[in-house]
Amino acid sequence: MELESILLPGIEPKRPIVIAGPCSAETEEQVMQTAKGLAAKGIKIYRAGIWKPRTKPGGFEGVGEPGLAWLKEVRQETGMYVTTEVATAKHVESALKADLDMLWIGARTCANPFAMQEIADALRGTDIPVLVKNPVNPDLELWIGGMERLNNAGIRRLAAIHRGFSSYEKKIYRNLPQWHIPIELRRRIPELPIFCDPSHIGGKRELVAPLCQQAMDLGFDGLIVESHCCPDKAWSDAAQQVTPDILAYILNLLVIRKDKQTTENLNELRNQIDECDNSIIEILAKRMRICREIGTYKKEHGLTILQAERYNEILEKRGAQGETCGMSAEFVRYVFEAIHGESVRQQMEIINK
Ligand code: PEP
Ligand code: MN
Repeated sequence: MELESILLPGIEPKRPIVIAGPCSAETEEQVMQTAKGLAAKGIKIYRAGIWKPRTKPGGFEGVGEPGLAWLKEVRQETGMYVTTEVATAKHVESALKADLDMLWIGARTCANPFAMQEIADALRGTDIPVLVKNPVNPDLELWIGGMERLNNAGIRRLAAIHRGFSSYEKKIYRNLPQWHIPIELRRRIPELPIFCDPSHIGGKRELVAPLCQQAMDLGFDGLIVESHCCPDKAWSDAAQQVTPDILAYILNLLVIRKDKQTTENLNELRNQIDECDNSIIEILAKRMRICREIGTYKKEHGLTILQAERYNEILEKRGAQGETCGMSAEFVRYVFEAIHGESVRQQMEIINK
């Protein structure tokens, strides 16, 4: 494939390149409010679907053409670049006429070579950046084939979006990540940028952060995340959208490792560890202060220091919490046994004073 950079002017070549915005453009107000929230957090590329592929008829199928005017308004008011999903030649024509900055092709469309060819033909002669989602089925050749059709039509600014693969059984993920597929894509076409779409892989808000981190750990170039000013009120994909504030929080917590580990990268990671350790000490000191207050209360009310039921509850709960965060329950129990030991020691001091 002959490829050129998808980086638009002003977008730093720094991982992750972030695209964010609602699943669907719903109203002018929702589009603008979300856009302003994201722009305030430094997001530079705004997404919103205006033609929505729905599993069953009767769902919200997007606002259509009027949404293009809202996207232009977003660009004018916030300076963000704007992108939407195209699935037919007609969509491409309208999106080009509206002068959008970037386009993406959805998973259902990528699974259909006729549709991909029709889109490629409609794009011929333009040099707009196009992002191609993996097909819904885990077929790398079909994914690459779709991108080749665009490339053969002269589209050089291409990137892939990994959004997971459908499966009949729904477990934790809405769409299984099957990370080996984008990894193989990277091996086959190393110069092709790959974005991760944690929203459609996870299908739930809680999974957005860990999936973003996994994508960064695997060396992905960008993230495309669904963000909505009022996620619970979203007309499509409500469970997987996050507010602009939460998105900024998630991005801020990402640990970005460089491809090649240099002493400088290592120092940077060690500084991050120092910051974490400082926070741990501060939070432990706060916990101990509260424990001493409880000690005073126990002394005044003649209560015993060790309340076995409460102690067991803490060990159980923290162990389980730790497991959901990727640590062994045994390790977390061990840490909390030590913390509890110190709390008891401090309360003894208070009681014996
Ligand atoms: C979307 O990005 O909102 C969308 C419809 O995604 P996908 O094609 O991955 O299902
Ligand atoms: Mn969506």
